Amino acid sequence: MNTPVKQHLIDPEICIRCHSCEAACPIGAIEHDDRNVVVKADACNYCMSCIPVCPTGSIDNWRIVLSPFSLAEQYDWSELPPQGGAAGETVEATDPAVAALLAEAHAGSEGAARAPASASKPTINLYTAAKPVEAVVQGNYRLTAESSGADVRHIIFSFEGRPFPALEGQSLGVIAPGETIPRLYSISSPRDGERPGFNNVAITVKREPGGVCSNYICDLAKGDRVRIAGPFGATFLMPDEPRARLLMIATGTGAAPFRAFTMRRQRAAARGGDMTLFFGARAPDSLPYFGPLNKIPNRLLRKHMVFSRIPGAAKEYVQDRLLVEGEEIAEMLGDARTHIYICGLRGMEEGVEKAFVSIAESVGVSWGALRQVLREEGRYHVETY
Ligand code: NAP
Repeated sequence: MNTPVKQHLIDPEICIRCHSCEAACPIGAIEHDDRNVVVKADACNYCMSCIPVCPTGSIDNWRIVLSPFSLAEQYDWSELPPQGGAAGETVEATDPAVAALLAEAHAGSEGAARAPASASKPTINLYTAAKPVEAVVQGNYRLTAESSGADVRHIIFSFEGRPFPALEGQSLGVIAPGETIPRLYSISSPRDGERPGFNNVAITVKREPGGVCSNYICDLAKGDRVRIAGPFGATFLMPDEPRARLLMIATGTGAAPFRAFTMRRQRAAARGGDMTLFFGARAPDSLPYFGPLNKIPNRLLRKHMVFSRIPGAAKEYVQDRLLVEGEEIAEMLGDARTHIYICGLRGMEEGVEKAFVSIAESVGVSWGALRQVLREEGRYHVETY
């Protein structure tokens, strides 16, 4: 009899075919056709590079098998075979050796990104692309000036009587008419809803030229019915611990989850750790929530808004301002209560990392070592697209 081995698989029911995993795999072990994304069992070396980039968690699936499922079998699936099920060669998880292998597989993936220790337990994948929930549009408001050139919208969905338990930092997937794959958007309202007690959520969407889903969403009218999947995301969550300090860094619509974080703290009665936001946009009239943000008192949220395209002014990015505020950041980095969140353009990651290296070095700390501790403690979170 063959020795059981662990096989890395992708859940076709949950996967949104964004292909981030394929791009992240350093050895080309992931591929796709027009139906599924699959993992080559003979190539995957369990390096886990693909795990943190997956926005839905569909990548984090493992089966203990006697002989691995072939690519042809994986391409054919519309759902994953259960462990110990009749399909293929999976073996019973009740066998201690098999249970140990499964635990090892999941422990490996947990090392990649962790939720804060005090975060509430998220509900994930309650609704899928095949079985979405229908929501009703309650509002669609433009957040940016007509003259800004950026059409960014605040959209509110009501789930009426249906459950949609979402935590701050989670996302939902919108399925445009005629499409089968959801597009993901961060939820910008707190866990008790855009309006407490009304079972609704908000998202922040920028109209992209030629974008099928963003144009569909930006054109939605009150009363329209929309297919939604989710909630998604199990790590980019806020700590429930009220004394936790939040350092939030965003560009453009990447500020969506930070609106949710801020509203959660505003609504919670307990006063606790501080919140600091670095927020980059082209100009004030294209910065989503500029007006409401400015009304939040500094004692609740320290705001650093930076602009890259103000005529006559030097271009400024969030990482430039982090360096200017290096002393404040160094103090936060030295505090074990600090949680760091980065959300927005993929390109910002490198600049923000460099700023952290320089700030940490200025106080004699290795950023690489500190970031490792932050990750292990669920205090460092990146969501960039
Ligand atoms: P944007 O308006 O194109 O850019 C926002 C600001 O970031 C601009 O000032 C831009 O400057 C600056 N920027 C450009 N490159 C940068 C870099 N390398 N480092 C630091 N700053 C940089 O942004 P957007 O169109 O709103 O895009 C936001 C991103 O967030 C998208 O990729 C989106 O997918 C992602 N996101 C969205 C959500 C959501 O729920 N909607 C959630 C998470 C993430 P210049 O252009 O002037 O150079």
